[in-house]
Amino acid sequence: MSERPIALVTGAARGIGAACARALAGEGFRVAIHYNASAEAAEKLASELPEAFALRADLAVPAQVDALLEALAERAGRVDVLVNNAGLTRNAPTPVMKLDDYDAVAALARGTWYLTKLMLRRFMMKQKSGRIIQISSVVGHIGNRGQSPYTMAKAGLDALTRSLALELAGRNILVNSVAPGFIETEMTASLPDQAKDRILERIPLGRMGTPEEVAEVVAFLATRGSYIQGSVIHVNGGLYGG
Ligand code: NAP
Repeated sequence: MSERPIALVTGAARGIGAACARALAGEGFRVAIHYNASAEAAEKLASELPEAFALRADLAVPAQVDALLEALAERAGRVDVLVNNAGLTRNAPTPVMKLDDYDAVAALARGTWYLTKLMLRRFMMKQKSGRIIQISSVVGHIGNRGQSPYTMAKAGLDALTRSLALELAGRNILVNSVAPGFIETEMTASLPDQAKDRILERIPLGRMGTPEEVAEVVAFLATRGSYIQGSVIHVNGGLYGG
């Protein structure tokens, strides 16, 4: 087995997750690059980072989360850092939002909770150490038009951080959230120009953030920040201060 500490980053093939995987590899972690649909990008990233490997699972399907844990046990034998980054949004005004859209967002939120539960049972409680970093969102705090299920899920993720921080503080497991503002990834690329302009007007720094600007905070929480527990760290160019 490798001497490097192990980090699992969910949704690590692209966007913020890929930047987190790169930043953690830079800190000396062996990174498990989780993906669902983006197999090619995940394998390519794994080939670029020292001792990294890619693992597939649809986190909305509990049996696939179970299999992900088995694969991690086999490949790495422990997990030191879990970055719950995978996320999904469905955009529509609430009166016309479909129940299926709500369910898709909620199923991934459930999968994040289930993966975390298994990670604690299988690895971190036994190791008596670990760090869990949730990638939530500023919109879980300030709301957003057309994203009501997503904002619910993200607010819930920060509430999960608070609950886990209380449950796990005595176990030497640190749990915190990083709440990005608007970041340049495929998720925001699909926004109409008018919506982007409205967003930019509200950001005091006058620009969207980069995935790397989120990842450097994740790397800090993964390796330093030993007295930070149950916090939400906002990375949003001044849009909201918490
Ligand atoms: P993105 O480019 O849309 O990537 C989303 C990631 O989630 C992908 O890697 C995708 O994996 C994974 N994913 C989606 N559904 C999944 C499922 N059912 N099972 C497993 N994985 C699944 O998003 P991003 O912008 O990098 O966002 C990353 C995180 O930051 C998300 O939680 C997002 O909500 C949050 N965030 C983003 C922004 C922003 O402005 N971009 C702002 C605040 C918060 P595959 O591609 O392999 O399917």
